Amino acid sequence: MMTNFDQLHSNKLYINGKWCSSVKGTHRAVVNPSTEEIICDVVQASTEDVDIAVKAARSAFASWRYSSAQERCALLNAIADGMDARKQELIQAVSLALGCPPHIAEWLHVEGPIFAMRYYAERATLMNKTARAGHSLIVREPVGVCAFITPWNYPLHQFVGKVAPALAAGCTMIAKPSELTPLQDYVMAEIIDAAGLPAGVFNLVPGAGSVVGAALSAHPDVDMVSFTGSTRAGVEVARAAAPTVKRVTQELGGKSPLIITPDADLDAAVRWGCNDVFINSGQTCTALTRMLVPAERYDEAVSIATQVAEEVTLGTDDKAFMGPLCSARQREIVRSYIDKGIAEGAQLVTGGSAAPEGFSSGFYVKPTVFAQVNNQMTIAREEIFGPVTCLIPYRDLDEAIAIANDSEYGLSSGVWAKDTDSALPIARRIEAGLCFVNGGEFNYQAPFGGYKRSGNGREFGDAGLDEFIELKSVQLPD
Ligand code: NAD
Repeated sequence: MMTNFDQLHSNKLYINGKWCSSVKGTHRAVVNPSTEEIICDVVQASTEDVDIAVKAARSAFASWRYSSAQERCALLNAIADGMDARKQELIQAVSLALGCPPHIAEWLHVEGPIFAMRYYAERATLMNKTARAGHSLIVREPVGVCAFITPWNYPLHQFVGKVAPALAAGCTMIAKPSELTPLQDYVMAEIIDAAGLPAGVFNLVPGAGSVVGAALSAHPDVDMVSFTGSTRAGVEVARAAAPTVKRVTQELGGKSPLIITPDADLDAAVRWGCNDVFINSGQTCTALTRMLVPAERYDEAVSIATQVAEEVTLGTDDKAFMGPLCSARQREIVRSYIDKGIAEGAQLVTGGSAAPEGFSSGFYVKPTVFAQVNNQMTIAREEIFGPVTCLIPYRDLDEAIAIANDSEYGLSSGVWAKDTDSALPIARRIEAGLCFVNGGEFNYQAPFGGYKRSGNGREFGDAGLDEFIELKSVQLPD
């Protein structure tokens, strides 16, 4: 079934189990980045709306916190069933506002989150787990009212990575999607409503980061903010949250390295590494945008990367691999990084900041490869968030690891070596929360999150549930 997004409740907020109008809210157009046409208008909530939503979530917490794990498991499974039933609408919602070709959005943006929703249904019983430490009984309780602030690049992943474990733990919540990609949150709110969650447990309040995001972060009755987005906004959220001592988790940016060893299958490694950057038009926080290549195989690697970039098909149809960037602003940011790379002396091997041929509308940028990059250049230090990869030569593995770790970020990394055994010791020396070995895939059952300025806390896996838990030590008499 296809959705007419104007008929979705996009002029409404979802608060306390009802679709309601905003108090003093405004509207903002959601734009299709491929056609530059308006998809629909979405309400932008006010701080008054935030107060009403927080009140609803607080009131619902009083009983939801004591719901049984079985009840929460059944509701999460009902939500996952709803996602399965409305999968085409979720694909369409993400794909239209983000610009990702639908056939890629299906496996990249939608199937994983459905899996994750079911995974957390099954993990809800972990809340019943107790432990003994000497004469103490340690029990798990939900952290309380949570605010979720999410970006535009993997909007359903980020929604589910927060909402699913929070529901499993017995928390209540207010979700604020990115202004650019709120549509899948509306489909999810309808699914959640139909699943029969008690009123006030889940609330949807779209709006500006500076208004709704800031009000949620500072709100005295919010116990936790889980933020995904830029390091800049993540710092502002933490600062606003500090006076009320709420828990803050941050999933922020990255500038992640891929170390290819001298004995690796170079063709496979470079192809995988380039596609890892170009998928989702380079708007992936874990993208391995610094490809570290042995100096003696550097020229060969550059020519493979060039070939991969030039083979990328642009567009949003069934044959396309890469759509446009999400917004005109993001395209300008990426273009200015490409120009800066050239100005700082990197060699532009293919791509560049001019619009790709045949794409006079849409926020497209050509897949771009830079060679002769050193790790001090701006394009090797800052997150570009576009389809731009940098090839950096190294002399020996110690130097490769030193370059990999010479970054203020530490979200992701990759190693491509002869085999897993030779890759693992290298993986252990990289300062990052994730390491992809020889093309290993993303895993929703494992913790996801960053070292250093890539964030605090983890999503997915049992560690993702732990973020929503308060531990209580009950000291028993001897
Ligand atoms: P952004 O920081 O501009 O916005 C993210 C969210 O924060 C949006 O909902 C926005 O409205 C809100 N926001 C903005 N300013 C705020 C403020 N002062 N207070 C509260 N909320 C505020 O990021 P973006 O451009 O939407 O997303 C791209 C960034 O997200 C990249 O840096 C990327 O690396 C990062 N990201 C990280 C992860 C991760 O898991 N580590 C995942 C995806 C994206």
